[in-house]
Amino acid sequence: MAEEVTVLCEAEAKAGLAEVAVEVLGEVWEREEARVMAEAPEEAGDKVVVEPLLWCVPRGVSPLCGFCQRGEISLCENVTNGRLAPGMSIGFCRDTGGTWSDVFVAHGSQLYRVPDGVNDLNALMVEPFSSGLHPVLQNFPGDDETVLILGAGAIGLCVLASLRALGSRSRILVLARYAFQAEAAERLGASEVVPVSRGIDVFEEVAERTGARVMKPIVGRPIMVGGVDRTFECIGSTISIDNPLRMTRAGGRAVLVGMPGTTRLDWSSIFVKELEVCASLAYHRAEEYEGARQSTFEIAFRLMQQGKVKLDWMVTHTFRLRDYKRALEMLTHRGRHGVIKAAFVFDR
Ligand SMILES: [Zn+2]
Repeated sequence: MAEEVTVLCEAEAKAGLAEVAVEVLGEVWEREEARVMAEAPEEAGDKVVVEPLLWCVPRGVSPLCGFCQRGEISLCENVTNGRLAPGMSIGFCRDTGGTWSDVFVAHGSQLYRVPDGVNDLNALMVEPFSSGLHPVLQNFPGDDETVLILGAGAIGLCVLASLRALGSRSRILVLARYAFQAEAAERLGASEVVPVSRGIDVFEEVAERTGARVMKPIVGRPIMVGGVDRTFECIGSTISIDNPLRMTRAGGRAVLVGMPGTTRLDWSSIFVKELEVCASLAYHRAEEYEGARQSTFEIAFRLMQQGKVKLDWMVTHTFRLRDYKRALEMLTHRGRHGVIKAAFVFDR
């Protein structure tokens, strides 16, 4: 590691708290990022949040690829090049380690100082919040639109929080599986929460609320005519990626935020409704916001500083690292345990 790499010895131990934010995506455990305390001399004692993407600059690649030159670092073309082992982000690269540890490595360019007025748990939420903020900034609805968010896990709630923090007055429907998720969605400004459980026909529920019609084809699953202008898919399973396509009105837009992996998909609703379908990955440094290009993390911090969003209450559970098996078990059954976001706590 060259000197540009900031080594964060006992970083999380000093910070007292590091997010693990484990999400279950099929059988894959995905680790998100952490809050740490920098040990570079000029920053000793500062609290920082790490933007975990390993793009051209942290990798020491020069010249930067075209995407990184534009700030679109989540689309970096050099994630297997440079002085670091392959991997898109900290936690997925053998040279950096990950946040399930007393120690990991980050480059100085990945650190964001926590500004005044943002408490530790809100700082912890900057990374997941940015994963909701980015798709919303890229696909902002008009105030006259009806928006449907599929999924009220942490990312679905962060999409909702982003819409309201950025001032959207659109009508927002949220599909929520558990009562605690429904409560969280209401707290964050959902216009209506549609419960998802056995015995409830979600298509009929959404159609009734939006004046759409549910068509039942001879072959295949139901499809809605009319209704929702824009959908944000925030679950990422086989069935969940099919639903927004069937529920979005003709000419509408389906934004895929949850990553599904391998899945079979019926493409007919995309064609018969000429849908716009787009995916959103993580966050970057080229958001157009208030007349300037800036990073998603900077906007997230500003919205928190301005009091437009408050997410610390979403960290519902904390664990010691040695209790990781229990943490994983509870996250696997998050509905039963009421987990929105979990974090590891380290001794100071
Ligand atoms: Zn790049």
